[in-house]
Amino acid sequence: MKLFEHEAKDILKVRGVPVPPNGGVIKTAAQLSAALKRAGKAPWVLKAQVLAGGRGKAGGIKLAKTPNEAKSMAKAMLGMDLITHQTHGQAIKVKELLIEGGVKIERELYFSVVMDRKAAAPTIIASAQGGMEIESLAADHPEALIRMSVDPNVGLRDFAARRLAFALDVPNDRVGDFCRVAKILVKSFLDLDCTMLEINPLIITPKGAMALDAKVSIDDNALYRHPELAKIPDHEASALELEAKKADISYIGLDGTIGCMVNGAGLAMGTMDTIALAGGSPANFLDVGGGADEERVTRALKIILKDRKVKAILINIFGGIVKCDMIASGVVAALAKIKLKVPLVVRLQGTNVEKGQEILAKSGIPVILADDLWAAAQKAVLAAKPAAK
Ligand code: GDP
Ligand code: MN
Repeated sequence: MKLFEHEAKDILKVRGVPVPPNGGVIKTAAQLSAALKRAGKAPWVLKAQVLAGGRGKAGGIKLAKTPNEAKSMAKAMLGMDLITHQTHGQAIKVKELLIEGGVKIERELYFSVVMDRKAAAPTIIASAQGGMEIESLAADHPEALIRMSVDPNVGLRDFAARRLAFALDVPNDRVGDFCRVAKILVKSFLDLDCTMLEINPLIITPKGAMALDAKVSIDDNALYRHPELAKIPDHEASALELEAKKADISYIGLDGTIGCMVNGAGLAMGTMDTIALAGGSPANFLDVGGGADEERVTRALKIILKDRKVKAILINIFGGIVKCDMIASGVVAALAKIKLKVPLVVRLQGTNVEKGQEILAKSGIPVILADDLWAAAQKAVLAAKPAAK
């Protein structure tokens, strides 16, 4: 789960990381003057809150010297379509701006903590040359990046923090503060179960180190350990994904036309692959889970049917713990409540498969039955194709 810059900064500030004077987040230009007051004296920085980096170069970060200038900038930025080198050619609408007081920058460093899978440990990546050119620096001068593995049991130790400070050429009188901040950043990464924590730039000011930007992603699977973070909405989730999350159903929306309902994540992925192999494309990943009962089947079907892209549904159930007849009853019960508008292909296999097939056959629901997954995928792909007439 990705956090907005302002959310990440709020969290880091509480933990002791200096951030610029905060004027708050605004949604309309009318909220600007109060935000400027909260942020203190001019100049101010207006920052588009979108879940992508590279905003500075794309016009999503503006420095205003007067309230009038800030006003015209805010008007232009709110509602603008931002395309940065990280948005893959797609425009993101700017709905919110973070207003901050400008700060004096002496140096811009790059500092991040990511998971290094090879080392099976968090790794600090840092550079003395932070700022907006970091991607090209990494490509052209990889030697300018410092990597330092972190033992997750101890975090960043004092000597390692000092070594980092010297490697980054931090001025002597600011080394102490830099080390303090670097240690908090690493500890935050570990404490909050981050998958990424990137501060670019981490600036050197006359007083010490400060996070001028913050990009933080949290491991969704660890959210149960962080009730305070779990309150933050998942900004990238679609309405259907949020509905599924509430029902405790693993659902990820995709671009295709075949709605899938499967039990088990591995089987769900295998089903998606098989659909692709048969020439179709899945509209979603959906794992109803091992303990799927009638209610879960109903909720899952409702979610799939709400997706307008869906032209056919493929239910693929392997009855292991879950029983095929129970799933079949669930499907019948669900379809008594919701109208089926697209062809439904069902493949059941495993425990009580005959009973399950019998229930479906007797129900009068126009189900297309298939014995194995390959046949089911082909039938679903055919059913999803627009009629060639
Ligand atoms: P990004 O381009 O999406 O990573 O956005 P950043 O928040 O990193 O801002 C881009 C650049 O704007 C930074 O590298 C700074 O040079 C500049 N910038 C951001 N905030 C301030 C500020 O408070 N004062 C000044 N002078 N420059 C700022
Ligand atoms: Mn940045």
